[in-house]
Amino acid sequence: MLVDSHVHLYEFSNDELGSFNGMILVSVAEDVKTSMIVLNLTEGFGSINPCIGIHPWNVDKVPFSDVAVIEKLVKDNDVRCLGEVGLDLRFVPNTIDKQRRFFSEFLRMAKEYDLVLNIHSPGTWREVFEMITKADVNRVMFHWYTGPLDLIRDLTEQGYYISVNAAVKVQEKSRKVAETVPLRFMLTESDGPYEYRGIRLTPLMIRDTVNEIAKIKGIDVETVEDSVYFNYTKLFR
Ligand SMILES: [Zn+2]
Repeated sequence: MLVDSHVHLYEFSNDELGSFNGMILVSVAEDVKTSMIVLNLTEGFGSINPCIGIHPWNVDKVPFSDVAVIEKLVKDNDVRCLGEVGLDLRFVPNTIDKQRRFFSEFLRMAKEYDLVLNIHSPGTWREVFEMITKADVNRVMFHWYTGPLDLIRDLTEQGYYISVNAAVKVQEKSRKVAETVPLRFMLTESDGPYEYRGIRLTPLMIRDTVNEIAKIKGIDVETVEDSVYFNYTKLFR
Protein backbone atom coordinates (compact mmCIF):
# COMPACT_ATOMS: atom_id res chain seq x y z
CA MET A 1 0.00 0.00 0.00
CA LEU A 2 1.48 3.33 -1.10
CA VAL A 3 1.21 6.35 1.20
CA ASP A 4 1.15 10.03 0.28
CA SER A 5 1.48 11.58 3.73
CA HIS A 6 1.13 15.21 2.58
CA VAL A 7 -1.04 16.22 -0.39
CA HIS A 8 -3.33 19.17 -1.18
CA LEU A 9 -6.03 16.90 -2.54
CA TYR A 10 -8.80 19.47 -3.00
CA GLU A 11 -6.73 21.20 -5.70
CA PHE A 12 -7.06 18.20 -8.05
CA SER A 13 -9.93 17.66 -10.49
CA ASN A 14 -12.37 14.81 -9.86
CA ASP A 15 -10.89 12.81 -12.74
CA GLU A 16 -7.44 13.08 -11.25
CA LEU A 17 -8.73 12.15 -7.80
CA GLY A 18 -10.09 8.94 -9.32
CA SER A 19 -6.64 8.01 -10.57
CA PHE A 20 -5.29 8.01 -6.98
CA ASN A 21 -7.61 5.16 -5.95
CA GLY A 22 -6.03 2.47 -3.85
CA MET A 23 -3.54 4.78 -2.14
CA ILE A 24 -3.48 6.20 1.37
CA LEU A 25 -3.81 9.97 1.04
CA VAL A 26 -3.18 12.33 3.93
CA SER A 27 -4.90 15.49 2.77
CA VAL A 28 -3.84 18.80 4.29
CA ALA A 29 -5.62 22.16 4.36
CA GLU A 30 -4.46 25.78 4.51
CA ASP A 31 -7.28 27.74 6.15
CA VAL A 32 -10.85 27.34 7.41
CA LYS A 33 -12.37 27.15 3.95
CA THR A 34 -10.03 24.45 2.64
CA SER A 35 -10.30 22.59 5.95
CA MET A 36 -14.03 22.24 5.34
CA ILE A 37 -13.44 21.13 1.74
CA VAL A 38 -10.97 18.49 2.94
CA LEU A 39 -13.50 17.20 5.48
CA ASN A 40 -16.14 16.93 2.73
CA LEU A 41 -13.71 15.07 0.45
CA THR A 42 -13.06 12.53 3.18
CA GLU A 43 -16.68 11.46 3.12
CA GLY A 44 -16.42 10.35 -0.50
CA PHE A 45 -13.08 8.55 -0.34
CA GLY A 46 -12.41 5.90 2.27
CA SER A 47 -8.63 6.10 2.07
CA ILE A 48 -8.33 9.84 2.71
CA ASN A 49 -7.07 10.93 6.09
CA PRO A 50 -7.87 14.62 6.70
CA CYS A 51 -5.58 17.16 8.36
CA ILE A 52 -6.97 20.63 8.97
CA GLY A 53 -5.43 23.91 10.05
CA ILE A 54 -3.99 27.25 8.98
CA HIS A 55 -0.83 27.32 6.85
CA PRO A 56 1.93 29.65 8.14
CA TRP A 57 1.69 31.52 4.80
CA ASN A 58 -1.90 32.48 5.62
CA VAL A 59 -1.61 33.94 9.12
CA ASP A 60 -1.70 37.53 7.82
CA LYS A 61 -4.80 36.84 5.71
CA VAL A 62 -7.12 35.42 8.38
CA PRO A 63 -8.29 36.58 11.82
CA PHE A 64 -6.72 34.91 14.86
CA SER A 65 -10.22 33.80 15.83
CA ASP A 66 -10.09 31.27 12.96
CA VAL A 67 -8.01 29.09 15.28
CA ALA A 68 -11.13 28.62 17.40
CA VAL A 69 -13.08 27.68 14.27
CA ILE A 70 -10.49 25.01 13.47
CA GLU A 71 -10.75 23.74 17.05
CA LYS A 72 -14.51 23.42 16.72
CA LEU A 73 -14.09 21.53 13.42
CA VAL A 74 -11.66 19.15 15.16
CA LYS A 75 -14.17 18.43 17.93
CA ASP A 76 -17.27 18.19 15.73
CA ASN A 77 -15.68 15.94 13.08
CA ASP A 78 -13.41 13.82 15.23
CA VAL A 79 -10.40 15.01 13.21
CA ARG A 80 -7.11 13.26 14.10
CA CYS A 81 -4.54 15.56 12.47
CA LEU A 82 -3.56 19.23 12.16
CA GLY A 83 -1.83 20.36 8.96
CA GLU A 84 -0.34 22.00 7.41
CA VAL A 85 0.82 24.02 10.35
CA GLY A 86 4.20 25.24 11.54
CA LEU A 87 6.60 28.13 11.10
CA ASP A 88 8.36 29.50 8.02
CA LEU A 89 11.30 31.89 8.23
CA ARG A 90 12.48 31.12 4.72
CA PHE A 91 9.56 32.24 2.56
CA VAL A 92 7.52 34.51 4.88
CA PRO A 93 9.91 35.90 7.55
CA ASN A 94 7.89 39.13 7.90
CA THR A 95 4.96 37.38 9.65
CA ILE A 96 7.01 35.18 11.98
CA ASP A 97 5.64 36.66 15.23
CA LYS A 98 2.07 36.08 14.10
CA GLN A 99 3.02 32.59 12.93
CA ARG A 100 4.35 31.77 16.40
CA ARG A 101 1.06 32.88 17.96
CA PHE A 102 -0.97 30.61 15.67
CA PHE A 103 1.41 27.67 15.98
CA SER A 104 1.44 27.84 19.79
CA GLU A 105 -2.32 27.39 19.71
CA PHE A 106 -2.05 24.41 17.36
CA LEU A 107 0.50 22.85 19.71
CA ARG A 108 -1.90 23.29 22.61
CA MET A 109 -4.69 21.64 20.57
CA ALA A 110 -2.44 18.75 19.49
CA LYS A 111 -1.64 18.03 23.13
CA GLU A 112 -5.21 18.43 24.32
CA TYR A 113 -6.87 16.24 21.64
CA ASP A 114 -3.94 13.89 20.94
CA LEU A 115 -3.61 14.98 17.31
CA VAL A 116 -0.96 14.28 14.69
CA LEU A 117 0.96 17.36 13.50
CA ASN A 118 1.69 17.59 9.77
CA ILE A 119 4.49 20.15 9.99
CA HIS A 120 5.79 22.81 7.57
CA SER A 121 9.00 24.39 8.89
CA PRO A 122 11.42 25.80 6.27
CA GLY A 123 14.12 27.81 8.01
CA THR A 124 12.73 26.95 11.45
CA TRP A 125 13.44 23.22 11.75
CA ARG A 126 15.21 23.46 15.09
CA GLU A 127 12.87 26.05 16.61
CA VAL A 128 9.83 23.99 15.67
CA PHE A 129 11.46 20.85 17.07
CA GLU A 130 12.11 22.63 20.36
CA MET A 131 8.58 24.04 20.55
CA ILE A 132 7.07 20.60 19.92
CA THR A 133 9.16 18.82 22.55
CA LYS A 134 8.42 21.60 25.04
CA ALA A 135 4.70 21.26 24.34
CA ASP A 136 5.08 17.50 24.93
CA VAL A 137 3.41 16.55 21.63
CA ASN A 138 4.30 13.03 20.51
CA ARG A 139 2.63 12.39 17.16
CA VAL A 140 4.55 14.43 14.63
CA MET A 141 5.68 14.31 11.01
CA PHE A 142 7.99 16.85 9.37
CA HIS A 143 6.81 17.29 5.80
CA TRP A 144 9.34 17.61 2.88
CA TYR A 145 12.25 17.66 5.29
CA THR A 146 15.20 19.67 3.97
CA GLY A 147 16.53 20.76 7.35
CA PRO A 148 19.95 20.13 8.91
CA LEU A 149 21.06 16.51 8.62
CA ASP A 150 22.41 16.59 12.18
CA LEU A 151 18.94 17.41 13.52
CA ILE A 152 17.52 14.14 12.15
CA ARG A 153 18.88 12.12 15.06
CA ASP A 154 17.19 14.47 17.58
CA LEU A 155 13.89 14.22 15.72
CA THR A 156 13.89 10.45 15.45
CA GLU A 157 15.01 10.01 19.06
CA GLN A 158 11.76 11.73 20.01
CA GLY A 159 9.88 9.34 17.71
CA TYR A 160 9.00 12.01 15.15
CA TYR A 161 8.57 10.98 11.53
CA ILE A 162 10.28 12.56 8.53
CA SER A 163 8.67 12.69 5.12
CA VAL A 164 10.70 12.38 1.92
CA ASN A 165 9.21 14.26 -1.00
CA ALA A 166 8.87 12.92 -4.55
CA ALA A 167 11.45 15.57 -5.49
CA VAL A 168 14.04 13.08 -4.15
CA LYS A 169 14.63 12.18 -7.80
CA VAL A 170 16.12 15.59 -8.53
CA GLN A 171 16.72 17.39 -5.21
CA GLU A 172 20.17 16.69 -3.78
CA LYS A 173 19.15 17.62 -0.20
CA SER A 174 16.22 15.20 -0.28
CA ARG A 175 18.58 12.43 -1.41
CA LYS A 176 20.81 13.10 1.61
CA VAL A 177 17.74 13.09 3.86
CA ALA A 178 16.58 9.76 2.40
CA GLU A 179 20.05 8.37 3.00
CA THR A 180 20.19 9.61 6.61
CA VAL A 181 16.69 8.97 7.99
CA PRO A 182 16.28 5.43 9.38
CA LEU A 183 13.57 3.53 7.51
CA ARG A 184 11.49 3.14 10.65
CA PHE A 185 10.93 6.92 10.82
CA MET A 186 10.41 7.57 7.12
CA LEU A 187 7.26 8.59 5.26
CA THR A 188 6.66 9.46 1.59
CA GLU A 189 4.74 12.38 0.12
CA SER A 190 4.09 14.43 -3.03
CA ASP A 191 2.91 17.82 -1.65
CA GLY A 192 0.94 17.81 -4.92
CA PRO A 193 -0.23 19.42 -6.97
CA TYR A 194 3.08 21.29 -7.13
CA GLU A 195 5.65 22.12 -9.79
CA TYR A 196 9.23 21.46 -8.76
CA ARG A 197 11.99 21.95 -11.31
CA GLY A 198 9.81 20.90 -14.21
CA ILE A 199 8.28 17.93 -12.42
CA ARG A 200 4.59 17.96 -11.56
CA LEU A 201 4.33 16.43 -8.12
CA THR A 202 1.21 14.31 -7.56
CA PRO A 203 0.38 11.13 -5.62
CA LEU A 204 1.11 9.20 -8.83
CA MET A 205 4.81 9.89 -8.17
CA ILE A 206 4.86 7.98 -4.88
CA ARG A 207 5.67 4.67 -6.65
CA ASP A 208 8.77 6.30 -8.17
CA THR A 209 9.64 7.86 -4.82
CA VAL A 210 9.61 4.48 -3.10
CA ASN A 211 11.79 3.05 -5.90
CA GLU A 212 14.24 5.93 -5.56
CA ILE A 213 14.50 5.55 -1.77
CA ALA A 214 15.14 1.81 -2.21
CA LYS A 215 17.95 2.60 -4.65
CA ILE A 216 19.50 5.23 -2.37
CA LYS A 217 19.37 2.93 0.66
CA GLY A 218 20.40 -0.15 -1.29
CA ILE A 219 17.43 -2.22 -0.12
CA ASP A 220 14.45 -3.72 -1.92
CA VAL A 221 11.37 -1.81 -2.94
CA GLU A 222 8.93 -3.95 -0.94
CA THR A 223 10.83 -3.27 2.29
CA VAL A 224 10.51 0.49 1.73
CA GLU A 225 6.82 0.27 0.80
CA ASP A 226 5.97 -1.95 3.78
CA SER A 227 7.93 0.21 6.24
CA VAL A 228 6.33 3.45 5.11
CA TYR A 229 2.88 1.90 5.40
CA PHE A 230 3.69 0.53 8.85
CA ASN A 231 5.02 3.95 9.95
CA TYR A 232 1.87 5.59 8.68
CA THR A 233 -0.37 3.22 10.66
CA LYS A 234 1.73 3.79 13.79
CA LEU A 235 1.58 7.56 13.47
CA PHE A 236 -2.13 7.78 12.66
CA ARG A 237 -3.15 4.63 14.62
ZN1 LIG B 1 2.02 21.40 1.49
